[in-house]
Formats: sequence, C-alpha cells, structure tokens
Amino acid sequence: MSKPSPEPSERGRGMDAHNEVMRDIRSEKDATYDPHEPTRVWLDEDNTPDGVKRSLTIILNTGGCRWARAGGCTMCGYVAESVEGGSVAHEALMDQIQVCLDHEAENTDEGEGPAPLIKIYTSGSFLDEREVPAETREAIAETFADRERIVVESLPDFVSAGKLRDFTGRGLETDVAVGLETTTDRVRHDCVNKYFDFADFEGACAEAGKASASDGRAGDADEAGEASAGVKAYLLMKPPFLSESEALEDMVSSIERCADVENCHTVSMNPCNVQRYTMVDELHFRGGYRPPWLWSVAEVLRRTADVDAIVVSDPVGHGSDRGAHNCKECDDRVQTAIKDFDLRQDPSVFEQVSCECERTWELVLEEETGFAQPLTR
Ligand code: SF4
Ligand SMILES: [Zn+2]
Repeated sequence: MSKPSPEPSERGRGMDAHNEVMRDIRSEKDATYDPHEPTRVWLDEDNTPDGVKRSLTIILNTGGCRWARAGGCTMCGYVAESVEGGSVAHEALMDQIQVCLDHEAENTDEGEGPAPLIKIYTSGSFLDEREVPAETREAIAETFADRERIVVESLPDFVSAGKLRDFTGRGLETDVAVGLETTTDRVRHDCVNKYFDFADFEGACAEAGKASASDGRAGDADEAGEASAGVKAYLLMKPPFLSESEALEDMVSSIERCADVENCHTVSMNPCNVQRYTMVDELHFRGGYRPPWLWSVAEVLRRTADVDAIVVSDPVGHGSDRGAHNCKECDDRVQTAIKDFDLRQDPSVFEQVSCECERTWELVLEEETGFAQPLTR
C-alpha cells in the first residue's frame, strides 16, 4: 500500500509523532482486497440485554478508517485489511452482505431460523457516510428488518439519532459499538493515539438514546413495535506504555464509569493483541510490550461483576505470545472460564481455575513499572 496521508480534517488531531510513526508502519503493507468480499463473517452467540442470542457477525470491507489514514491508533492493524483507494461503492457493499447471508444459510441447521442478532463492524465507522453511504445503510437496515437486534460499529462523531432511526424505525433494537478504549482521556490520547474525549462518548450515548422508534415517529413505533438504541463500549485492556497493574486499575475504573453512563448497557473489554503493521508490533518485536495476563482479564471481570452493565471479554489469540496469555499451561482453562463468565455473568467461574503462575502474575503486578516493562514474556 502506498504511504497513507491524512486528510485536512484529521491534521492536528492526536499526537503528531505517533501519527508519523504509524503512517510509516502502515505503508509497509502491500496486499489489496476484493471490494465484493467481506473481510470476515462468522456465526456465534452473544449476551445481549434480552439474553443470549445466536449472532451473525460481519466485518464489512468499506475502505477503512479515516483516522487510520492520518496514522491512527497504536494497536490497530485493521486498516491493513482495507481496499486500496479508500471507498467501496453501494453495489459492492451489498454484494458483501449477500456473501454473508449465503454464509449464514449454508451454516444454519435445519429448523433454526436466521440469527436474531446481527453485528456489523467495518474496521472504521459504519455510520460515517463516506464509508457506508446513506443509501447502503438504509438497504442494510431493510435486509435485516426481520431480525431482533443489530449492532453497528462507529466512532462517536458519526452517531446521530436520525441515522439510527433507519434501524429502530424498522423495529430493530439497535446498539452502537464505540471503541472508547478507556475512560481516561490521557491514556486514550497518549497510549492509544485516539483523538476523541470521554465527553464525546457520553454525547454519543445521549444521542443514541434519542433514536427510540417512539421518539418523533409515533406512528412507526406502533407499526414496528418499540425499539430503542443504546451503546456498547469497547475497552482496550493494556495499551502500550502502561504497566500490568496500571492497565488493570485503569480498566476497572473505566468499566465502572461506563456502566454509570445512561444508555451504555454493555462493556466489551478487549485485551490488546499484537497486530501486524502497528506500533504495538514494533514495541513487541523489540521486547518492549507484553499483552496482558489472562489473570488480569479475569481479575477485572471479577472486580466489576456487580456494575450495572453486561461486561464481557473475548481475548483474541489467547495463549499465544501475541495475545493475552499466562504460562501456556493454564491458558485454555482460564479462557474457558472467561467465555463462561461472558454468558452467565457469574464471577464464581474464576474460583474453579488456578495455576502456579498466579504467583508470577502477582509479582508482576507489584513490581512492573511503565518505564521498565515487560518483566516477563
Ligand atoms: S482502532 Fe478504530 S479509530 Fe483507531 S485506527 Fe483502528 S479503526 Fe480507526
Ligand atoms: Zn499458568
């Protein structure tokens, strides 16, 4: 890929030094992708405010995130999966949706209907009309109008009640997945290089709350049933430059603050994993970064189990050097407990796992500092 360049609207945001390094790293990527194929699609199940539901998850290939073109976040390699040129036309995006529907039909057992929950991520912002034009957003809403719930990913800037009414107005419970990463502005700016503030996230939650189908469209609400919109916050466990204990404490307080924000009903804590073509990858390669311990993930879930929100975590690449890991011996067992917690929200699942490496982890929590890390591999 040629070296990305920031658009005028993105200049001067974030940290110039971070952005410059990230642009250089991203320019090493030279693969291109077919705009008629989604980046990924899979079937799974998820915990929602209405219980556990079968889900169809779609990663649409939309040309990538604007912020990533300016340099972007220190841990995010997703832009490297995007198409060359930066935008994908309506017809191609609808072809991608068709590929996903075919995948669902081929992998659904007889007697099971379509998945009630649809989750659409774009490695950017689904609600940014330069990534997904209004026409496409409406067509996608219509395609999935027979489902119960839809999740769409977006940065807070692009969240508006009007756009969300495309979904709530069709009777779909709607969630916006916002990559907030942390509630601490300093950590988000300096460690993640993400440009917005917690106040912007709170604004997006308030805006989503205005998109209930009954608001301003009384007729629709009766026709399609009451549907509301809320926010699912995505948090990043252990961004670069924080020690294990700093990361753990930041995550506990972030989950507590998110749960207190009206309309934010779910928090998804993502342990940072080492993706190619990122600053985190460069640090990891030189021995300057270790993904979090799975014990830390379990500890955060245990300490925040009583907050007023669903809290889940799905450690990607668990047990590998590039993902959240413990000693390798106990990784699968701890991961199973985490997945169990996701569905049941019961912290007692963590009482059933233990391992000798917990002592090492406790020592890391006590001794590791931001300027001398990682203490272990
Ligand atoms: S994390 Fe999100 S905002 Fe940051 S560069 Fe990646 S896609 Fe863009
Ligand atoms: Zn262990």
